[in-house]
Amino acid sequence: MEADRADQETASVDLRRDGAAALEWAASYLERVGDLPVLPSVSPGDVRARLPDAPPERAEPFSDVLRDLDEVLLDGVTHWQSPRFFAYFATTGSEPGILAELLIAALNNVGFLWRTSPALAELEEVALSWLAQLLGLPREWHGHIEDTASTVTLAALCAAREATGRRVVVASEQAHSSVDKACRILGLELRKAPTDGELRLRPEALELSDACALVATVGTTSSAAVDPVPAMADGCERAGVWLHVDAAYAGSAWSCEELRWSVVGVERADSLVVNPHKWLFVPMDCSAFWCARPDDLRNAFSLVPEYLRVSEEVASLSEYGPALGRRFRALKLWAVLRCLGAEGIRARIREAVRLADLFASWVREEPGWELLSRNFSLAVFRLDGDDVRNEQLLERANATGEIFISHTRLHDRYWLRLAVGSARTTEEDVCRAWEVLRECAR
Ligand SMILES: *Cc1c(COP(=O)(O)O)cnc(C)c1O
Repeated sequence: MEADRADQETASVDLRRDGAAALEWAASYLERVGDLPVLPSVSPGDVRARLPDAPPERAEPFSDVLRDLDEVLLDGVTHWQSPRFFAYFATTGSEPGILAELLIAALNNVGFLWRTSPALAELEEVALSWLAQLLGLPREWHGHIEDTASTVTLAALCAAREATGRRVVVASEQAHSSVDKACRILGLELRKAPTDGELRLRPEALELSDACALVATVGTTSSAAVDPVPAMADGCERAGVWLHVDAAYAGSAWSCEELRWSVVGVERADSLVVNPHKWLFVPMDCSAFWCARPDDLRNAFSLVPEYLRVSEEVASLSEYGPALGRRFRALKLWAVLRCLGAEGIRARIREAVRLADLFASWVREEPGWELLSRNFSLAVFRLDGDDVRNEQLLERANATGEIFISHTRLHDRYWLRLAVGSARTTEEDVCRAWEVLRECAR
């Protein structure tokens, strides 16, 4: 017994000592992440094969966890924090966000009622109001945080179904697959509207008479195209249809005056999603949900059992969405907004756009390459020749470990996507990406 206890004591985690080591690990990781292969070269099952089958009977020291992170896991990590991660939509876990995540876990609040953490509930309101101001959105909207844009869109469409009693959703053929998934879950029919040459929804032929919701995308996933929100809002007003705007990626750009052309009309939306975990330097996960019709949200989601009844006259955020428990995500959003400042956020967004534009200009000027578009910080391009040649180029470029890019299919052809989104990406990194691509194309 005595010996057992002694063992456990030596193995127990010392928050100060082990915490300092974990922080040191994080700091040195971020210093060297640019030197690691962005995409790991492991095969499926490799990581698992190097891990024990069963949990340990005896407590192990935290230093063993850090050691295995280095020796076992790191070879199988895709380095999202790498400055040469250009796939999908590149993200940044910024320093204030990383530190705030530690504090969130330390507090370990579960905010399903106001009284389970008044600070959590009220900071969430404040942080969303700050973010609305930063992005030029209406101040009076209800705002709260969900885990992902997929959840927000699911919740918005659910509220639209309840509010209208109709069961059809209309979105462009370029809308994100989370719209398809939400419709499938909710038993709604999704009607895809055609797009124009620049991949924006064509509002002329919209048929909305039987629709509960229309989804507008500002910054589509394939090419960051912007749907004509004002015309779509007109249509929704005429037909009494809920307008949901999906600006998961591009909404962050509204912090910059020169990119605010793409927010025009959004103030007429019934609901909106923007992901601070995508292009606003907040670590995964943090998705901002605004709604101009909070009563409709509450009608769709409020369900208060006896054991959660309280005397306070204050709504709980859990009555506005599918989840009951909520993490203290507001703390990391608040920390990032404070420690980067509006100026710092704008500077980083502008730099990402500048770098993507620079890359696009190189592609445009290079014979043998074709640029489809450069919207916000996303360039879509290809090498002349057939799809197979471009697929091989993507595989070859990613296999170098120097960069990671992704692809899409548009106008029936295979295209490569380079998205700048890491605040750690420099002109040198984008330059290197272009060199790697040209070398691999030879
Ligand atoms: C990334 C993205 C989503 C999905 O975001 P999750 O938070 O991963 O659910 C939805 N819509 C658009 C336009 C996106 O870019």
